Amino acid sequence: MSARSPSGDPWLLTPGPLTTSPEVKEAARHDYGSRDRHFIDVNRQVRERLVAIAGGQGTHACVPLQGSGTFVVEAMLGTFVPRDGQVLILANGSYGQRMAKICQVAGRRFELLEAPEDTPVDPHALDRALADDAQTSHVAVVHCETTSGVVNPVEAIGRVCAEHSRSLLVDAMSAFGALPLDARSTPFEAAVAASGKCLESTPGLGFCIARKEALERARDNAHALSLDLHDQHVAMEKNGQWRFTPPVQTILSLHRALEEFEAEGGVAARGRRYRENLKVLVDGMRELGFATLLPDAVQAPIIVTFRMPADPRFGFEDFYERMRRRGYVIYPGKLTLAPSFRIGCIGRLGPAEMRAALSAVEGILGEMGVASGAPCAPAASGCNAVAGDGDAALLQAEP
Ligand SMILES: *Cc1c(COP(=O)(O)O)cnc(C)c1O
Repeated sequence: MSARSPSGDPWLLTPGPLTTSPEVKEAARHDYGSRDRHFIDVNRQVRERLVAIAGGQGTHACVPLQGSGTFVVEAMLGTFVPRDGQVLILANGSYGQRMAKICQVAGRRFELLEAPEDTPVDPHALDRALADDAQTSHVAVVHCETTSGVVNPVEAIGRVCAEHSRSLLVDAMSAFGALPLDARSTPFEAAVAASGKCLESTPGLGFCIARKEALERARDNAHALSLDLHDQHVAMEKNGQWRFTPPVQTILSLHRALEEFEAEGGVAARGRRYRENLKVLVDGMRELGFATLLPDAVQAPIIVTFRMPADPRFGFEDFYERMRRRGYVIYPGKLTLAPSFRIGCIGRLGPAEMRAALSAVEGILGEMGVASGAPCAPAASGCNAVAGDGDAALLQAEP
């Protein structure tokens, strides 16, 4: 038995690219020149809608950028952190660490304030760190750390930044559109996300929602021409056009995806559907013996990390292949903390698809002769999770 999405492709239970609707794919079946009036109008509407989702009407502007999500994270850090500035990066996973790497490459000074991968970053620790620190101009945080699926308290972090008069930069990549991020309650200078995550469009476009004054101040600051969001903003404000070849079809798809997003009921409704997906997934997996890395209170309805089962008959690569053959693509783990794998609950799918995925898991455990998905106790010897080096290649192949 195999399940397939309407396009005949496997369901993507991953952090992106994700399953998109037939209409979102269909929207890309047009050619427009970069100066085409219709295209320019669509581009403008997309930018306005994205600002509205972030509660930034009047104060913020949306600057889109070609590329995957990392391109716009890199553009944000390079554009807004002054060359003599310093970023305090709140890191509890690999996307926080990636921001540190970006700062290193871009030549921006940074400090790390780290938390374990299974723990949200701590606003009180930030408060203490900023109290006796005059160097930090910017604080950077990941809203949902996709490494584990943990949600970070951006609103409280925003308040601490405001109290200390520091600017907040948010990597909202895997949360935007599903978890609320509102410029009126979380005073951020800039936040970035992308087309191919919770907005359920095709990948290829990142965007930055930034305070207009900050954009204006950022002139000549960027470390790279193609990643200069000030320049991109000024050019687009002038005539509505992109500086360099626009990803036309990606924008057409995103436009359609945003219409579907609004029809569904915006952030509240999308977040609700993902929370239903999460509940079906986690309840079902727990019934099969699996254990989540995170306690429910800090689990975002985006992607779930499961600990590797202890049963030596369970091999992740084999499990992954069998799931794919049944029509479900899952994701390797990325933790340094413990062997794990991940299953996403975002994209154009609902509780029915999650239930079907769970029966696939159950069927496969049966095929493998694995009685329970229970993980081994921490540091148990001879455990699959420790000895399962067969999975190392796949785990490391993941970006
Ligand atoms: C997906 C993601 C990114 C961007 O990753 P790309 O592979 O470059 O699209 C950045 N931050 C977070 C938290 C993400 O989930």
